[in-house]
Amino acid sequence: MRHFVGIDLGGTNLKAGVTDENGVLLCKESIKTRADRKAAEIVRDMGYLAQNVIASAKLSPDRIAAIGVGSPGTPDNRAGVLLYANNLPFLNVPMRSEIRKIVDRPVFLENDANVAALAESVTGAAADVPDSITVTLGTGVGGGIILDHRIHGGFNHAAGEIGHFVLVQGGEPCTCGRRGCFETVCSATGLVRETVAAARLHPESRIHQVVGGDLSRVSARTAFEAARLGDAVAQRVVDRYLELLAEGLANLVNLLMPQVLVIGGGVCNEGDALLVPLRSQVDHLGYYGPGVAKTEIRLAKMGNDAGIVGAAMMARACLADGLAG
Ligand SMILES: [Zn+2]
Repeated sequence: MRHFVGIDLGGTNLKAGVTDENGVLLCKESIKTRADRKAAEIVRDMGYLAQNVIASAKLSPDRIAAIGVGSPGTPDNRAGVLLYANNLPFLNVPMRSEIRKIVDRPVFLENDANVAALAESVTGAAADVPDSITVTLGTGVGGGIILDHRIHGGFNHAAGEIGHFVLVQGGEPCTCGRRGCFETVCSATGLVRETVAAARLHPESRIHQVVGGDLSRVSARTAFEAARLGDAVAQRVVDRYLELLAEGLANLVNLLMPQVLVIGGGVCNEGDALLVPLRSQVDHLGYYGPGVAKTEIRLAKMGNDAGIVGAAMMARACLADGLAG
C-alpha cells in the first residue's frame, strides 16, 4: 500500500496528514501558520510538519509516494512554485525544492479550493459520481470543478473561480475588481452585510434582539435565527439570499450538469432551512427537459480534513499522470 502526505496551507492554520492510497486519513497534525512571518520560514515549517506526521504514522519517508500541497492563490505545479497567495506573504516561492530539502519525495502543488473539491469527489459527498462541483460558502465563495474525478484547471490551472461570475450587474464591489460577483451576494460576508442593512432600515426587527442590540455581532446565522422567531424583515433577507444562491447554483448546473453539486461552509449549518427551499428552487431553475435527470445538491462531508485529504489525492493524481514532482 502506497501512502501520501497532504499539506493544507491556510492563513491561520498549517495542517498536514498522511493518507493511504484510497484517501483514508491515518493521522494529522496542525500548527499555527503565523502568516506575518517570512515565506521561507513558513515553507520550512511545512517540511518539518510533513516530517513529523510521517513519523507519527510510523512510516519511513521512502514509504511516502508523494506530497501534495493545497494553498490559496495560484501555484505553478509544473515549476513547483507558488506564484502568489492572497493573505499570505508568498510571491514566486520555490515550494517544491524547499520542501524536498526536508522530505525528499515528489511534491505537487494545487489551489486549496480545488483540492477540497477533489476530497469530496474521492472520499466525500460526491464519491459515488464522476462529475461534481463543490461550492464553499464562507468568508468568500470558493469552489472547484471535478470532471471524471479530475480537477478541471483550465489550460492555465486557474479555472474553477466559482465565486467570480457576476450575478448582480453593477452590484457591490468584489475583491477581484468586478461588481456583483456571486461571492459578493452569497458569501457569509454578503449575507451579514444584507442582514445589517435590513436591521438599520427596520429598528423594530427582531434581528436587533438576536444580537443583543449590537449589530457588530451579526453573523451568517442571525437572519435565519430571527426568521425562526417569526420576524418578517429577517425572513425577507433569508428569502432573497436563497433566491440569489439558487440563481448562482443553477448557473453552474446549466453550464456543467454535474451529477452532484456539493455545498459547504458555515451557512450550511442551517440544514433543512437552507437545503429544502434551495433544492426546490435549483430544480426549478435548472435547464431540464421533461424526464431529464436532475443534479442533486448534497452537503459537504469532509469538513476540516478536506484540504489535507484533497492535497494527498491530488498528489496521487499527478503521479498517475506521470508528472515529475
Ligand atoms: Zn469577483
